[in-house]
Amino acid sequence: MKIVVLKFGGTSVGSIKKILKVTKIISGYIKKRYKVIVVSSAMSGETNKLAKLTKKISSNFISSEYDAIVATGEQIACSLIAGGLSDKGYLSRSWQAWQIPIITRGDHSHSRIININKKNILRFLKKGGIPVIAGFQGINSENRITTIGRGGSDASAIMLAKFFKAKKCIIYTDVDGVYTTDPNVSKKAKKIKQISYEEMLEMSSLGAKVMQPHSIQDARLNRIDIEVRSSFSNNNGSLITKRKNISNRNIIRGVSFTKYDSKITLIGVKDRPGVAAAIFAPLYKNSINVDMVVQNISSNKRETDLTFTVKNEDLLKTEKIIKKNKNIIFKKIIVDEKVSKVSIVGVGMITTPGVTFRMFNALAKKNINIIVISTSEIKISVLIDRKNLNKAVDVLHKEFKLDN
Ligand code: ASP
Ligand code: MG
Repeated sequence: MKIVVLKFGGTSVGSIKKILKVTKIISGYIKKRYKVIVVSSAMSGETNKLAKLTKKISSNFISSEYDAIVATGEQIACSLIAGGLSDKGYLSRSWQAWQIPIITRGDHSHSRIININKKNILRFLKKGGIPVIAGFQGINSENRITTIGRGGSDASAIMLAKFFKAKKCIIYTDVDGVYTTDPNVSKKAKKIKQISYEEMLEMSSLGAKVMQPHSIQDARLNRIDIEVRSSFSNNNGSLITKRKNISNRNIIRGVSFTKYDSKITLIGVKDRPGVAAAIFAPLYKNSINVDMVVQNISSNKRETDLTFTVKNEDLLKTEKIIKKNKNIIFKKIIVDEKVSKVSIVGVGMITTPGVTFRMFNALAKKNINIIVISTSEIKISVLIDRKNLNKAVDVLHKEFKLDN
């Protein structure tokens, strides 16, 4: 069986007109003799609306019921698609995760899919049917409805592709692929034809919003090729695949960024074992994601300065937690909420010397000061003043030959 998994994101099913367009895309694959498994997200904005309802009851709304509520958006989108296909004469029906079932493990709201019962879907495919499956949801061992994290229908699609051994997994969205940088920020952004899982994972964790990072991790583990394309145009998309399939040998694949970061510096922290842990443990417990961290070498061996970054939205909470933390002593706290992080990503930097120098030099030539640096095997990130963000993206894009 030649199976293809087609996933439609919220914007692709954002209106009735768009859903009718989606049914056309699906019928195109049927005409090419594919067996099609459709996965849909909720109509755009719906999941947010549902989440807001729970907030009106309580800011601490019980997570099992939260999942039962936010999972409903997908049911509507799937039934509209299946109904639309039926109307055109195709055999089609919607499937909720519990009806299959799609089994998940882990906490509510960020469960992970561990198994999918294939029996009924396979039978339907063999009859020539088009199953339309709700993304984002599953059930746990207690038969409760779970969800797998915001943007999770990407991961649903990847796992369906894995369990059904699909030839292809195509993610339909509102952009026609993965770009070298955000086209809204730089006019020079170019569509990337092929990108490795590793690079895509870094790019999406570093701010490129095309796909949910978890889903790329799943695709990488299961070696599933993903095509990202737009449901609004016929343009070729981008392929996310294994490193060795990639022909373009650019050192850097893309420049990504997060715009709204905050920097916190603690001056005169007592320099003894366990301080860093004492600072970060309560942040971690409050689900605050600490990103970049630097500790200065102390000049007097007694005190040091420690700088770290968090998302702007977490800043107030972070400051409060630090100030009431009895386990740490420091002289002063300095906060800068106008910083951004810019990163270059590319597997080519593993084997190419001098990438760091080129990055810093390019920024220096534009008078852009680097506040904090962090690196991994395939990315280099720098923290800069937000006012320099666009300039930094442009200069790095050019330096690493992504403009042409
Ligand atoms: N509808 C869910 C969300 O908005 C899942 C998804 O879009 O993939 O997060
Ligand atoms: Mg979505």
